Amino acid sequence: MIPIVKPYIAPKEKMMPAIEEILYSGYIAEGQAVYQFEDQLKEFLNVPNLIATNSGTAALHIALLLLGVTEGDEVISTAFTAEPTNTTIALTGAKIVWGDVEQATGLLDPISVEKKITSKTKAIVVVHYAGMVCDMDRFNTISEKYGIPIIEDAAHALGSCYLNKKIGYNSAFTCFSFQAIKHMTTVDGGALAIRDQNLVNEAKRLRWFGLDKGVSRLKNNINRAGYKYAMNNVTATIGSVQLTEMDKVLTKHLDNGKYLDDKLSKINGVKTIPYHQNTTPSYWLYTLHVEKKSDFIKMMEANGITATELHLRNDAHTLFAESKCALPGLDAFYKTYIHIPCGWWVSEEDREYIIDIIRGGW
Ligand SMILES: *Cc1c(COP(=O)(O)O)cnc(C)c1O
Repeated sequence: MIPIVKPYIAPKEKMMPAIEEILYSGYIAEGQAVYQFEDQLKEFLNVPNLIATNSGTAALHIALLLLGVTEGDEVISTAFTAEPTNTTIALTGAKIVWGDVEQATGLLDPISVEKKITSKTKAIVVVHYAGMVCDMDRFNTISEKYGIPIIEDAAHALGSCYLNKKIGYNSAFTCFSFQAIKHMTTVDGGALAIRDQNLVNEAKRLRWFGLDKGVSRLKNNINRAGYKYAMNNVTATIGSVQLTEMDKVLTKHLDNGKYLDDKLSKINGVKTIPYHQNTTPSYWLYTLHVEKKSDFIKMMEANGITATELHLRNDAHTLFAESKCALPGLDAFYKTYIHIPCGWWVSEEDREYIIDIIRGGW
């Protein structure tokens, strides 16, 4: 079976000596290896400020806390995402307001979002789902017009581009995940890119109980409770090695994605995604629309190719019952969208095989 996701781990000869060294170094908690990983990642993404965390969820939560999102506030988000995008909003006590998605892309629809803005709206969370990039031209305009900051959930979007630059620089906050199945895994981990340098120290305190790492433990003074969200040296070491492989891995995703875009656009019964202007997807998953979706899934599985929706629409959860509203764009998107494999593990023979199978019909 060609899987939809697969953890990429750098070659043993490169990875194992680095892990062994750090494990027996006597310093395995947050330390130099973490700061080095942060520097490497800043360079990779070309962003000035960034902190590493122990998960993408932690990065999202810290971003919301830095904006002071709390009970009584509203945050506009999307139901088409992995749950942590929204459980972190729930943790702040704020109300989630669903924006609808574009029927063609499944990405948050700026027109719907603008309609849902109220005096209580504290933030807009956009998700670059499956590596496809949201309509940032429009979202930037909305953010400026209303003075509402944007948090980009880029858990699927390492290497995705907006205006030919890697995602991470555009908004107040951009959150990355290095969980097992993402483009780059550190086993678990995440990062938060922060546009305003003045917020970096508070971000660091929020990831470490509220304590200031720059001040001796005995002279510290906590004035706001933080969390245990720090990355450790072992994870960071894995990340530093993984990062040296990412150009290669991301190129594989991109190359396969473009191949599928090209071939699928000529096949009946499927429709490719119209990506937004000024954006380049990183193809974490390949997304397309198909007729007779359940028949398509069965046919693909019978031929050894995973085809799946991957995530449950988040408005189906009881936790978010209060936010329930009509989302006709999402209803329509769900009827036809599906993901198929296109990651680094999909070889040239695999992708030709995938196209042959789809061309054969269902
Ligand atoms: C994976 C994921 C997260 C959370 O990342 P973790 O590192 O697993 O905490 C957040 N948002 C989306 C869309 C994700 O897919």
